[in-house]
Amino acid sequence: MILEGIGLSKRFPWGRSLTGVRAWVRALEGATLQVAEGETLALVGESGSGKTTAGRILAGIEVPTAGQVLFRGRHVAGSMGAAPRTGGASRRDYRLGVQMVFQESQASLNPRKTVGQTLDVALAARGMAPARRREAAARLLAEVGMEPVGTFLARFAHQLSGGQRQRVNVARALATEPAVIIADEPVSALDLSVRAQILVLMERLQKQHRVAYLFISHDLAVVRSVAQRVAVMYLGRIVEEGRTEQVFATPLHPYTVALLSATPIPDPRRARLRSRIILPGDVPSPVSPPPGCPFHPRCPVAAEICGREFPPLLETGEGQKALCHFAGTLAPGASAPGRG
Ligand code: SF4
Repeated sequence: MILEGIGLSKRFPWGRSLTGVRAWVRALEGATLQVAEGETLALVGESGSGKTTAGRILAGIEVPTAGQVLFRGRHVAGSMGAAPRTGGASRRDYRLGVQMVFQESQASLNPRKTVGQTLDVALAARGMAPARRREAAARLLAEVGMEPVGTFLARFAHQLSGGQRQRVNVARALATEPAVIIADEPVSALDLSVRAQILVLMERLQKQHRVAYLFISHDLAVVRSVAQRVAVMYLGRIVEEGRTEQVFATPLHPYTVALLSATPIPDPRRARLRSRIILPGDVPSPVSPPPGCPFHPRCPVAAEICGREFPPLLETGEGQKALCHFAGTLAPGASAPGRG
């Protein structure tokens, strides 16, 4: 595996009193994620599910409260947990080897720097000599389809469209020749037609550079088109994981079933046959998650045991896993054994 997060947890302080922190927001709870070389792993879930926190920890932007991050099998300094497997990864290798592309293309670019200067900083971080950097920046811009490169190198972020800014962000991420790019909702702020162009671009660059993506998204239709594997998050936990075609064809967890039921399908005949599952209530507060299975207050098939006991991680022979007492044994809309 090129990048791994093992048992990652993150808690943020919530409210303070004279005696200290009043409570903790449990943004991430024991999440384990593994990204293989050259693959795309999608991390999906509703807003507040913990997917962005997981991405930021894997990118080294946040420090986990517990758990550890491994890059190329080596422990990354600053992440917690057990002793390194093979000695520590150099901070520099990790910093250059794992890059991030954010949803807000404008906010992630320095408004005072031209595109050329932005790329120059990234190329300098890689240790490239100044004399070679302008040519390398022009090559990167051409790779992301921004031509004529001379014109775009001199522009500032506010002089670019949203799609062009996101292309610059992708070029900047590629400048350090990373092994992994963590893309946090990279197309959700873009118009539909531009979205498709950026997704095609990212796919082409992945093939050319053998770069792996951790693709964070709430949009299952997009995820289906880009990812080889999917991990589904709910209330800070990974509740299901598997190959994309497995998870879409035979979801094991009731939350995944509900999410998929809301995803548009292009075939109108199949769309008519499918019924949407509306989950009751809202996502519970991460300050005081429910006991037992965190999904039980909203689960359409919850049984008595679900409110009492935390579910085990059940795995099928095909490598698909789900955090549910009845993973894969329930058809959507059925009742769990013992529920009546
Ligand atoms: Fe639903 Fe129970 Fe499975 Fe949780 S453990 S997802 S409540 S059936």
